[in-house]
Amino acid sequence: MAYDYDLFVIGGGSGGVRAARFTAPLGFKVGLAEEYRMGGTCVIRGCVPKKLLSYASHGFEDVADLAGYGFDARVDGFSWERLIAAKDKEINRLEGAYQNTLKGAGVEWFKARAHLTDAHTIVLRDTETGDEKTVTADKILLATGGYPTVPAIPGRDLAITSNEAFHLETLPERIVVYGGGYIAVEFACIFAGLGAETHLVYRGEQPLRGFDEDLRQFFFEQLDHHEHLTLHMGETISGLAQASSGGIDVALGSGQTLKVDQAMFATGRAPNTPADLCLDGQIALNDKGAVTIDEFGQTTVPNIYAVGDVTDRVQLTPVALHEAMAFVKTVFQDTPTSMDHSNIATAVFSHPEIATCGLTEEQARASYDAVDIYRSSFRPMKNTLSGNPSRSFMKLVVDRDSDRILGMHIAGRDSAEMMQGFAVALKMGAKKADFDATVGIHPTSAEELVTMRTPS
Ligand code: NDP
Repeated sequence: MAYDYDLFVIGGGSGGVRAARFTAPLGFKVGLAEEYRMGGTCVIRGCVPKKLLSYASHGFEDVADLAGYGFDARVDGFSWERLIAAKDKEINRLEGAYQNTLKGAGVEWFKARAHLTDAHTIVLRDTETGDEKTVTADKILLATGGYPTVPAIPGRDLAITSNEAFHLETLPERIVVYGGGYIAVEFACIFAGLGAETHLVYRGEQPLRGFDEDLRQFFFEQLDHHEHLTLHMGETISGLAQASSGGIDVALGSGQTLKVDQAMFATGRAPNTPADLCLDGQIALNDKGAVTIDEFGQTTVPNIYAVGDVTDRVQLTPVALHEAMAFVKTVFQDTPTSMDHSNIATAVFSHPEIATCGLTEEQARASYDAVDIYRSSFRPMKNTLSGNPSRSFMKLVVDRDSDRILGMHIAGRDSAEMMQGFAVALKMGAKKADFDATVGIHPTSAEELVTMRTPS
């Protein structure tokens, strides 16, 4: 049977666009539907705009640091409106670049919401006109990502999520951020860095559950010094109510009430798998609602595959990109390829920034007989003249028997930039002896990672 497309991709985010634009040049006819904006969560309302806001949030600190270097510098003002306008301009540029890339690769794309009526038939509803069109495809790739979830709390409609946080018209004077994961700590640091009175409410004892415990402890202590940030740990939000003054009253589980102008929930994300996309159950989902796939991304309907956040493996853009490339090789280049999800480096663009790769100490101790830990916490050189009190943290987790580095955990300025290079070494199976044999670059913070000699 002849289909309209060899491949139809549903979702124009990182994974979907990557798969489409690498399949079409191989000589296959490729279509793609995106109901919102091309670029998906990462480009439109995730990693990219967040990083831009994060850069801005260092502005006051950077200027204050200059005093120690002989400058008479001060900030005369800050305009959230200008920042958001500049950010929007850049995001529009990137969205256009994504669209052009698809066009250049020969992908036919539709601004439409897609659903499936059978394993090869896709109905496209134009997002603007509502007109429907039916197309068929040999292979279908689900790359529909995820969306923020909000717990069922009275008054939750008063809260925003990360989706809306990027479009606030003004910088709130007072804000509460609920959650203790990536998004919560990143946004709490953005708002506090820009001078908003920020409350971070988290049900656990310290944010970033699942990260190395030493790193969490260090991060928590540094967060606690943040001038405009108040931490409410071991605490929940029990309700939100419109205050007569116009703000929001946030009732905490402990009985305390916070008075704020905005409440942002960063309480996790769920895979985007509506029933009409999943053939009413033929495409099996796991208990979190994520598409069930095999190691090659194949769903329970053999011609339908899935990549990225919709599969809820590791919710990171570079992972979706790798999964998409594995899909293209497997399905269109006759080379079955599955992605290796081990040793994926990741960063939290909080303040301090965190970067991590490999096993936490806790995971390593659970799997290896003997583990050596190398740990260092220090004041980075840049902060000596500035008097900035923030510190850096570095930790290596090493398997004593093989000498292999199992995990690396760092916090401090430019941690993510440092980690990217070291992640190559970890992926290659570097040993502690390799780190010891590497000559440091002096004076840098990163040299600490190759000069730690004594296990702690
Ligand atoms: P996370 O899963 O990281 O964090 C969710 C947080 O919400 C946790 O602290 C969790 O608490 C808390 N929570 C969940 N449910 C409730 C509830 N019912 N009541 C109160 N608190 C609740 O999700 P995020 O939304 O922060 O991020 C999603 C994913 O996106 C991340 O896992 C990451 O992979 C990706 N991401 C990556 C970034 C990067 O690379 N820099 C940036 C942003 C996102 P508890 O810990 O107790 O479960």
